[in-house]
Amino acid sequence: MILMKDIYKTYGNGVTALNGVNVDIEQGEFVYIVGPSGAGKSTFIKLMYREEKPTKGSIIIGDTDLSEIKERKVPYLRRDIGVVFQDFKLLPKMSVYENVAFALEVIEESPKSIRKQVMEVLEVVGLKNKARSLPSELSGGEQQRVSIARAIVNHPKIVIADEPTGNLDPDTSWGIMKTFEEINARGTTIIMATHSKEIVNTIKKRVIAIEGGIIVRDEQRGEYGYEI
Ligand code: ADP
Ligand code: ADP
Repeated sequence: MILMKDIYKTYGNGVTALNGVNVDIEQGEFVYIVGPSGAGKSTFIKLMYREEKPTKGSIIIGDTDLSEIKERKVPYLRRDIGVVFQDFKLLPKMSVYENVAFALEVIEESPKSIRKQVMEVLEVVGLKNKARSLPSELSGGEQQRVSIARAIVNHPKIVIADEPTGNLDPDTSWGIMKTFEEINARGTTIIMATHSKEIVNTIKKRVIAIEGGIIVRDEQRGEYGYEI
């Protein structure tokens, strides 16, 4: 499903963020990416949705070799991959409904069908009754659930989340994790970078640990393994 072969990434300033990474993730897996700050986690994640390109090595997602896709085809890749950020990245002047509808790839779909799909995902994240609210009228956890709704509205095969609970209190974080588990139970692959020892050690999943740009650990039902 996701195959990275011998990946190196050196940024323009000469910093090498990834230094020979090999990974194979199957459809339907739930994977935590852990490691200290500056280890290369975000870079690893950004390569998957083509926010960054590797300096060397190949990345294959499904049937697609990312090194072979043209810039204009990148939006098609993004349709198969939903992304969730620590800071939500919602459009502040749009309602919850509009934030999700805006992300929906509409190819001559009727307004009725759009509405149905948007309300369906808002139901999945438990926010149907907030459809008319603005992001500023919601709690942090609710805003993150809107961003999850936006990430899944196109039914992507993969959802990538970079520290999705980083700005949330513990209670709210557990709710977000429950939502991710539900999405994963429907067959969606989840890849989540996190600094939450509690979450990783409680909701046991595959753990890939990155340090200094290399994978130092890759275990099924792994532990967080760091003190903070
Ligand atoms: P993590 O997510 O584990 O904190 P990152 O992937 O963000 O790690 O960063 C890995 C290394 O690459 C760090 O040294 C960081 O400073 C550097 N880095 C990240 N993004 C950039 C960038 N756009 N330009 C230059 N250096 C970067
Ligand atoms: P139900 O399926 O239970 O009838 P609705 O589809 O009527 O629920 O929508 C639930 C909430 O979402 C209501 O508050 C509704 O006003 C709001 N909503 C539905 N469609 C839109 C839209 N296009 N723009 C803004 N809010 C909407």
